[in-house]
Amino acid sequence: MKNIRKISLLLLVTILSTCGCGKLTTKPMTYTGTALDTVISLQIYDSSDEYLIDECVKICKTYEEKFSRTIETSEISMINNAKGTAVEVSPETIKIIEKGIYYGELSSGAFDITIGTVTSLWDFKAENPVPPTAEEITEALNHVNYRNIAITGSTVRLLDPRAKLDLGAIAKGYIADRIKDYLVSEGVEHALINLGGNVLAIGNKLDGSEFNIGVQTPFDADAGPITSVKINNQSVVTSGTYQRYFEHNDKIYHHIIDPDTGRPCNNGLTSVTILTDSSLTADALSTTCFVLGPERGMKLINQLDNVDALFIDSNNNITYSRNFQNK
Ligand code: AMP
Ligand code: MG
Repeated sequence: MKNIRKISLLLLVTILSTCGCGKLTTKPMTYTGTALDTVISLQIYDSSDEYLIDECVKICKTYEEKFSRTIETSEISMINNAKGTAVEVSPETIKIIEKGIYYGELSSGAFDITIGTVTSLWDFKAENPVPPTAEEITEALNHVNYRNIAITGSTVRLLDPRAKLDLGAIAKGYIADRIKDYLVSEGVEHALINLGGNVLAIGNKLDGSEFNIGVQTPFDADAGPITSVKINNQSVVTSGTYQRYFEHNDKIYHHIIDPDTGRPCNNGLTSVTILTDSSLTADALSTTCFVLGPERGMKLINQLDNVDALFIDSNNNITYSRNFQNK
């Protein structure tokens, strides 16, 4: 619940900075609810048909039921519990796993969707969370290697029977893209999809101006956004230490794990925000760059076309990618 509250604040910051300007000619149809273990919101500016909202929420739930590693009946749980045997899954699950493998390769394993054995050791929702022991981490790390995922046709097999998939770093981006596809197919041209801070715009605002999306001040949601970015038909996704963490013995333990150590990344970054067309790409790259760290992460972004980023360090200093133009 504490986490949900934190995320609600984060969402509020985003929404306030988006429509607090009072320039919109029409109030959008708005939905806020919980799904995907976070707060989700939708703002549709050019339709008042509530059926659209219902369908978007259904899309969210359908994908959550396929991709969650904690829902026993999900396709991901079926793969994780199959003890290395092949599991038949839907084309969407094949697609997202393939994307996960792609970002594993792109980052030489800094991004790794077989991080599940390690992430399941870190319980951020526990009443009194404690870090796992060194032995537990070492054992879990033996089973982290995205190269152990074998896809054949419509089946997925884990070559290491004890490996566990965790799609937490890309699922929200993938699902935001699917919601956008749906709304566009229904004729929506102006909307904002926000899945726990994973923001995706359809078009621009009704008055023709860009959406202005707040980037949260790390660990201080009350302070308002530290900066904001302008987007038109783009996604903006932030991976930050403050989004999911606990404190133990005056130390902060967050949820973005360095696969070299099995522990939260400790590289001076507090958040990474990515701007690009696809929300899946933004989601994957925000986590990837966070794990790669300030130098290697920014180097990667500067090599990619049509991707921009801003990194915030532990002193709240902001570094922008070379071609950043959305300020
Ligand atoms: P995000 O908030 O998109 O950066 O994703 C963070 C989530 O991705 C975590 O809560 C884990 O479920 C998962 N995760 C953590 N570390 C990694 C990693 N190194 N590679 C891939 N997924 C990760
Ligand atoms: Mg991500």
